[in-house]
Amino acid sequence: MSETPPGDKPEIRYVNLYEAEAKIYTRRISGYFQRLRRYLSAPLIALFVLLPWLSYHGRPVVWLDIQHQQFNILHFSFWPQDFMLLAWLFIIAAFALFTVSALWGRVWCGFTCPQTVWTLLYIAVADAFEGDRNKRMKLDQQAWSFEKFARKAAKHLVWLLIALLTGLTFVGYFVPSPQLVMGLLPHLDAAGNMTTSLGWGPVFWVLLCSGMTYLNAGYLREQVCKYMCPYSRFQSVMYDKDTIYVQYDTARGETRGPRKPNDDFKAKGLGDCIDCSWCVQVCPVNIDIRDGTQFECINCGLCVDACDQVMDKMGYPKGLIRFTSETELSTGKLQVFRPRLIGYALAVLIMLGAFGYTVSERKPVSIDVLRDRGARMYRVDGDDIQNVYTLKINNMDQQDHTYDIAVKADEGDATEFRILHGHSVKVKTGEVLSVPLRVAVQAAALKGAKHEVEFVVTAQDNAAIVANEESIFVGPEHE
Ligand code: SF4
Ligand code: SF4
Repeated sequence: MSETPPGDKPEIRYVNLYEAEAKIYTRRISGYFQRLRRYLSAPLIALFVLLPWLSYHGRPVVWLDIQHQQFNILHFSFWPQDFMLLAWLFIIAAFALFTVSALWGRVWCGFTCPQTVWTLLYIAVADAFEGDRNKRMKLDQQAWSFEKFARKAAKHLVWLLIALLTGLTFVGYFVPSPQLVMGLLPHLDAAGNMTTSLGWGPVFWVLLCSGMTYLNAGYLREQVCKYMCPYSRFQSVMYDKDTIYVQYDTARGETRGPRKPNDDFKAKGLGDCIDCSWCVQVCPVNIDIRDGTQFECINCGLCVDACDQVMDKMGYPKGLIRFTSETELSTGKLQVFRPRLIGYALAVLIMLGAFGYTVSERKPVSIDVLRDRGARMYRVDGDDIQNVYTLKINNMDQQDHTYDIAVKADEGDATEFRILHGHSVKVKTGEVLSVPLRVAVQAAALKGAKHEVEFVVTAQDNAAIVANEESIFVGPEHE
């Protein structure tokens, strides 16, 4: 808001950077892109709600088990040691977003982002109880009455129910949903205090997530996209002149202006835009796409649907506002495949392949061998030369295992190495156990100062669960 302080010179203007956002009343619209969003978002919402209820071999299909620091998906379990895999997954997701953004602009924001999907769901609820744009505006300006109270109360009740369901579902990814729902039922403990069998922690998280949903989708809406979401800024950086995104065909639309149905508008110097402002009224971020590309635009296509309806009514061809590229607008030709896009797509495919291979080859056990680097490189005990090692065995399986530890010389070397004092250990699921080991060899059998040795760890109950690691055995220098 600009204002001139009283008594100040009229040309000095102060700009309030904390101006309150005006409430946006979007007009209800139907059309191809609105339907497309429903077809895309309905299965995604269903998947989000159902996943925490599904189990696989007696365990939730997706379970972020924070208590045991374990991320379970299907039969895979990932531990903090698998952080690199998670980092790779984020990098692949970022590159996939770059690829889609370079091709279609911010379609992720407009069609599948939870913020947009939930916001449109909340707007649909408001629309159902308070009516379309004009009715909602009128209702807000009216004095309080029973009808106004009833409509608002019904809207907020449904908003709260959606928020609660969202909060419960989200926390269900961390605490299995059946357990969560039963565990949240309050009861009196032995001392007569109100409690739940899961304690108050999950209650807090469910309420927090529900509150955030209600606040984000009910009130903050487009402000999250404009001021909070980091993706909104860097997705726009991916645009080039061949990116296909929502644009107004200025050459065709201008000069804009109203006209009567049978007017020869071209003779009056008018373009196809009748200046009805429908494209602005349906916009969830309240911008006028006719002013050109703006960072607020989430590429949702609602203005395309609105303008197409207007064009239909006027008997003009559709597509005055459409998904198109700058190249297409200036030359009439759409160019999709280009080096940058192909580069992004190839990078995603290669990374996905490498990630899939790493996950499929991932063993449920890994070992690290650390040689004792003390002052003495080796010990002499009778006829034996001994080296000391620490073996770190990482059990990444979903159950405890007892592992046999073996050591052998490198291929082609007949030297017989032995582990002294026992060579099997029990490691709990998710545990990284450090095992001190003493390896011995007959001094006479050693042919040189350094021998390559290989440690092999095998689960007693499943020979396929095996890991190996090479190290060095050091003996005395021979004359
Ligand atoms: S300008 Fe059009 S595409 Fe962009 S946010 Fe508004 S309605 Fe959606
Ligand atoms: S909806 Fe189409 S005709 Fe109406 S103002 Fe927007 S661009 Fe012009």
